[in-house]
Amino acid sequence: MIAAMDISVTKAETSKLKDLDLENLPFGRFFSDHMLEADYENGEWKNIEIKPYQPLLLSPSLAALHYGQAIFEGIKAYKDRNGNPFIFRPYDNFHRFNISAERMQMPVVPEELFIEGMRQLIALDKNWIPSSADHSLYIRPFMFSSDEVIGVKPSDTYKFMIILSPTGPYYSAPMRIYVEEKYVRAAPGGVGYAKAAGNYGAAMLATAEAKKKGYDQVLWTDVTEHKYVQECGTMNVFFVIGNKAITPGLEQGTILGGVTRLSTITLLQEMGLTVEERDLSIDEVIEAYKAGTPIEVFGTGTAATISLIKELRYKDFVMEFDVDAWKTAPTVKKWITDIREGRREDKYNWMWKI
Ligand SMILES: *Cc1c(COP(=O)(O)O)cnc(C)c1O
Repeated sequence: MIAAMDISVTKAETSKLKDLDLENLPFGRFFSDHMLEADYENGEWKNIEIKPYQPLLLSPSLAALHYGQAIFEGIKAYKDRNGNPFIFRPYDNFHRFNISAERMQMPVVPEELFIEGMRQLIALDKNWIPSSADHSLYIRPFMFSSDEVIGVKPSDTYKFMIILSPTGPYYSAPMRIYVEEKYVRAAPGGVGYAKAAGNYGAAMLATAEAKKKGYDQVLWTDVTEHKYVQECGTMNVFFVIGNKAITPGLEQGTILGGVTRLSTITLLQEMGLTVEERDLSIDEVIEAYKAGTPIEVFGTGTAATISLIKELRYKDFVMEFDVDAWKTAPTVKKWITDIREGRREDKYNWMWKI
C-alpha cells in the first residue's frame, strides 16, 4: 500500500454510464464519470482532487499551448473472468512518464500521485471497465505546463491529470507501410524516447502524405541514412526473420520504449525465438525477402497491441507478405490478450490488482 497523498474526492451526482453501450464504443471519444487533477506549484504537488469529469478553464497565455511542455501516457485496465479490475504494467508507464518529464524539463510525479491516484480513480469508476473480450478501460495520464506567461522558459507551474476512456477492440487491418525517407520522427539527442505531445504533431504530415499515396502509415528511418528502421507510426516495430526477432535498440534515444515492446520481447523468448535489439537496415530485410526467408513484420503498442504489416514499400521496391500464413505475431497477440483478460497464467506478474 502506497502512502496516500491527500486526495479529495467529489463524486458525480449521476453516472453517464446508463446512457452508453460500453461494449460498442469508438476509441477515445467517451470518458468516465470522474477525473484526477493536481497542481504543481512552489516545488510541490497540491490540490489533488478526484472530481466529476469536466472542462478546464485555461488562460490563452497558457505556456503549454505555446511552447509544448506536454507529455502523456497510455495504459489499459481490464477485468478478469471473475470481474476483478486489473491494470496492465502500470509501473512501467509510471517510470516512463518521469523519463519524459525529465527530458521536457518538467517536475517528477511521485508514485503516490500517479499510481495511487490512478488506483483510486479507477476504483471509483470501475463500472466503466468493459468486460467483453478485447475491451478495456484506456487510462490517459498527462501533464502540461500551466504558467500564464508567454516568455520562453520552463514553466513554474504544471497540471497533472488522469482521464479514463472505455474502449472496444482497436481493430487494425493488416497495414500497407511506406518507408519514410524525407521526414524524420527522431534523431539522437532529440525527444524520440519521450512520450511528448509534440512528437505526435510533428508526425502527422508524413502520415498524411503516406495516406495520399495509398499507404496506412510510415516506417520511420534514421536521420542520416534513411535506411535503419525506427518505429512504425506510433508503434514499435518487430521483424521476425527466420527464427530471429529483431527490433531497434533504445541506446540512441530515438525509440519510444514501449511497454508492449517489452512484453513482446519476453513472449517471443518464451516461444523460443532469439530476440535481437539492434540496428536493422531495410537492405537487410530486402536481402532476406529476396532469399525467400520467412518474414513477419508487425507494430506493437497499447492501443492496438499488435498490428500486422502486409506490405512494405521502400523506394520502388515492394515487399508483400502473406499474413494469413504467419504464426509468431498472431501468437504474441493472443498471449498478451489472454494474460490481460485472465485466460493465460500471468507468470511475469504484469497484471496489477486495483
Ligand atoms: C506510446 C508509443 C509506443 C508504444 O508504447 P506502449 O507502451 O507499448 O503503448 C510506441 N511508439 C511511440 C512513438 C509511442 O508514443
